[in-house]
Amino acid sequence: MGQTEQALEVLKKVFGYGSFRKGQQEIIEAVTSGRDALGIMPTGAGKSLCYQIPAILSGGTAIIISPLISLMKDQVDALVQNGVSAASINSAVDWETASDIFREVRQGRVSLLYVAPERLEGEGFAEFLRSIDIGLVVVDEAHCVSQWGHDFRPSYLNIAPVIASLPKRPTVAAFTATATPEVRDDIISQLALREPFTLTTGFDRENLFFHVEHPADKNAALIQYVRQFPDVSGIVYASTRKNVESICERLRGHGINAVRYHAGLSDEERRRNQESFIYDRASIMVATNAFGMGIDKSNVRYVIHYNMPSNLDAYYQEAGRAGRDGLPADCILFYGSRDIMTARFFIAQSPEETRPAAYRKLQAMVDYCHTNNCLRGYILSYFGESGVPEKCSACGNCTNEIERVDITVEAQKILSC
Ligand code: ADP
Ligand code: MG
Repeated sequence: MGQTEQALEVLKKVFGYGSFRKGQQEIIEAVTSGRDALGIMPTGAGKSLCYQIPAILSGGTAIIISPLISLMKDQVDALVQNGVSAASINSAVDWETASDIFREVRQGRVSLLYVAPERLEGEGFAEFLRSIDIGLVVVDEAHCVSQWGHDFRPSYLNIAPVIASLPKRPTVAAFTATATPEVRDDIISQLALREPFTLTTGFDRENLFFHVEHPADKNAALIQYVRQFPDVSGIVYASTRKNVESICERLRGHGINAVRYHAGLSDEERRRNQESFIYDRASIMVATNAFGMGIDKSNVRYVIHYNMPSNLDAYYQEAGRAGRDGLPADCILFYGSRDIMTARFFIAQSPEETRPAAYRKLQAMVDYCHTNNCLRGYILSYFGESGVPEKCSACGNCTNEIERVDITVEAQKILSC
């Protein structure tokens, strides 16, 4: 059987899907044939399969570097359920379980080992990696390695040295939804990818409706919007913990079932609130940008930004959590000039050498809020996409939004039958 047929068979037998999505097959073929790869695909495009299938097809153990424990757990559980041998090593795994996992890996019985980047800091763990047969290293959420990205994690800088210290260099594949050219180049150099097969699928998400509002009263605008769609799932992003708390309280005061999420809450409350939202017990998640990475909730019908984020990379990633099921969804940004001050404040806290780029990105974000041109076109051009049409049929600047609201109602009907 050829590589392509094998990959298709795994797709069907293990994952139960009939065909590949855009870009998946090309990446899988490159990685399976031992070529480094960089996959740049929007949130929800299906990046996980692009490395899970090569990992299953390859002989040894594939190491998957992934930044979030909850994300690792979901993926490992899903793989194990599908009969694939997978495990994860992170701070939530106790010593005894970890040593069982190490033994299984040594015996060649684990196809995918998910690892938190912080684990690579320990010499003991690096030594363990040098003692086993690794054919493939995958770096998920690879933009975390770049200081130009919006979610730099210093622990990602350990990845390249650890790879370089392995007795035999494995194939290295990196994945991200962030597409700016500087981040892409930085990923290639920071991870020392060797002539990677680079695949960028189009960044357009046709089912998303983009809109910027300049409300005089953001609270009133929020309540008004949310009341239109009482029983659907939505995310409201705010820039500070304080805003999250007060918005959540206000919504609840209006009888709306909202929960909150930010880094200042206990692990227990965050977990509970996240689950309420994911299992549709709470309709609205009010959160800072701490919420969302790796969350695979397909039926989010709207993402409202109560505050403008400091760049479009972050905005598009957060807004992109709407409509992963392909049905119409709204991405609405409430702009207020005070948001610029908050964004500047955050940038002033960041390392000095990253600030000039951060201010440029902030300017592009502010321009998005003020443009009268097509919003979708603006975003796609920002991400370097070529041949972007001047007008789309689904953004606040190209259409009459009242019309669009009706479409969302239609989508609700589709969902509820
Ligand atoms: P990403 O990491 O790119 O944001 P995921 O890998 O989490 O996206 O995949 C998003 C969703 O798409 C998952 O529910 C996944 O099972 C589904 N999916 C991926 N590939 C396919 C496919 N070829 N056919 C059908 N569904 C797919
Ligand atoms: Mg992913």
